[in-house]
Amino acid sequence: MSSNVGQNYPYTSESEAERAAVIARLVAEREDLAATLAAEATPPDQNERWWVWKCPTKGCPGLLHAAGYASEKHAVYVVCDGTCAKTFLR
Ligand SMILES: [Zn+2]
Repeated sequence: MSSNVGQNYPYTSESEAERAAVIARLVAEREDLAATLAAEATPPDQNERWWVWKCPTKGCPGLLHAAGYASEKHAVYVVCDGTCAKTFLR
């Protein structure tokens, strides 16, 4: 199975404040991210804590932070904070 749903177990967790800060920083740093999130994800709900996953991209040291929910699937929409800068569904 080569889908990006592999390695689905979380690596750690973070508070809502930590999650919101990371996503805000990534949106500020990456020109297209805000538009991508607006098109592909719905805003996150009011969880106190969020899972964080290791990025599955080879060679990328990043972690995946929840940015919201995928618009058309029941999945968390996550953004890598590392060098690959990809988005995934978890
Ligand atoms: Zn990555």
